[in-house]
Amino acid sequence: VAGGAGGGKLERILVSVRLRPLSEKEIAASDPAEWECINDSTIIFRSSLPDRPMAPTAYSFDRVFGSECTTQQVYEEAAKEVALSVVSGINSSIFAYGQTSSGKTYTMSGITEYAIVDVYDYIKRHPERAFSLKFSAVEIYNEAVRDLLSMDSTPLRLLDDPERGTIIEKLTEETLRDWNHFKALLALCEAQRRIGETSLNEMSSRSHQILRLTIESSAREFLGQDNTTTLAASVSFVDLAGSERASQALSVGARLKEGCHINRSLLTLGTVIRKLRFLKGRNGHIPYRESKLTRILQSSLGGNARTAIICTICPARSHIEQSRNTLLFASCAK
Ligand code: ADP
Ligand code: MG
Repeated sequence: VAGGAGGGKLERILVSVRLRPLSEKEIAASDPAEWECINDSTIIFRSSLPDRPMAPTAYSFDRVFGSECTTQQVYEEAAKEVALSVVSGINSSIFAYGQTSSGKTYTMSGITEYAIVDVYDYIKRHPERAFSLKFSAVEIYNEAVRDLLSMDSTPLRLLDDPERGTIIEKLTEETLRDWNHFKALLALCEAQRRIGETSLNEMSSRSHQILRLTIESSAREFLGQDNTTTLAASVSFVDLAGSERASQALSVGARLKEGCHINRSLLTLGTVIRKLRFLKGRNGHIPYRESKLTRILQSSLGGNARTAIICTICPARSHIEQSRNTLLFASCAK
């Protein structure tokens, strides 16, 4: 659908759900699928347990994607319009929310690549404007912000700039030359995330990753003149920490602290989105400052920014509680 879910109506926050296929491991363990997308906007839970006969429970969202859907479809229908608003000077953010192994990284990395391809395509079709693209990448772990494009792992400080809002001090911003340069930067991020970790999945389940593309453009005929108006905006691609961390009762010590921090970011994100939905542009307090994640993303969530939230769920019976929690988050966000 051109124009995204809702047939082109301009929703500030689009909430979608993506169901991944059963994994080979789940199939081998006879862990059956209990969720099914019955149309473009409804997902149902249908217990196949003989001792749990119950009516199917239906949940509706702006868009739902069954296990047969490709990432390209998810991108086209649930993220493209939001991501591409960046070329018109409107900030945006795309989130993947869900438990570990539900498909957040699978979905978000595909969406990021499709979006960059489309941005380059847009630039090619608009030779009358001069564009400048900048790319940055951070990870938030335990409320510490780390630059994924720098070898220096010292946590970065957040500063309040009267004009630009919250900025990340000393953040590396690479001027993107082309597609290959973008791929090289992505590889660097991956390598940086792996440092000191036994497995990437372990790390990604506990940290948030924000990749940000900032685009500035101005009409070439006015370049260098005083009356040049520059359009500037950014699109943020956010691969959130595993949502099980927000609900799990974690053990003592370091893990507990970690759980609290992840909890805080995800809970604050949920509250911010709910308030934005409720206020619909009216004035009111929105608690961006309660977590680093929402502070960094404030300008990508509030104002006239556009947001797409893609909640990923595992179909298997063994994940039923986490899937329900994710759909609860998704329901609250819309
Ligand atoms: P998360 O980032 O939420 O922890 P991943 O994106 O790493 O989850 O996905 C877990 C595994 O499932 C990976 O091996 C990934 O390739 C696979 N996977 C996830 N979503 C899909 C999908 N829609 N189709 C096929 N495989 C998928
Ligand atoms: Mg992941």
